[in-house]
Amino acid sequence: MRFVADAMLGKLARWLRMMGYDTLCAADMPVDDDDLINIAVDEDRILLTRDQELYERAKSAGVSAVYMNGKDIVDQLVQLVRELDLDLQESPSTLVCPSCNGRLVEVSKKEVVGMVPATVLDTHDRFWVCQSCGQIYWEGNHWKKIRETVRMVRERLTQE
Ligand SMILES: [Zn+2]
Repeated sequence: MRFVADAMLGKLARWLRMMGYDTLCAADMPVDDDDLINIAVDEDRILLTRDQELYERAKSAGVSAVYMNGKDIVDQLVQLVRELDLDLQESPSTLVCPSCNGRLVEVSKKEVVGMVPATVLDTHDRFWVCQSCGQIYWEGNHWKKIRETVRMVRERLTQE
């Protein structure tokens, strides 16, 4: 399952990448609505949008599309789990860079010496590097936030 999101869904795009989903976002590329529909068709991606008109156009062009009506990230993830059976990953072995959608590969601690703060090096053992933008990741505080959000999404799913 791969996605292309409109420019209003930048935050959702980052979350989907953190959960391992290849997600392009219009906020990162110079594209218009026609381009988004073409990308969805050419690359077999599901279009995510908050734009009713774009949603209707995508549907009539035969593109799989979801009209996102949630107000916050928990609402939006709940909607995707319901409509697409999205799998909520909460493991740091995610393979997609949250900032650029590049591929992450795990590297040894030795390879990141001098590239991350010494305190991080002392307290972490697993590191990942983005093949596209070079950003280095480790299992830091943001994973707590991811687990917390995933917990809230699961809670919401069982309540309703
Ligand atoms: Zn990257």
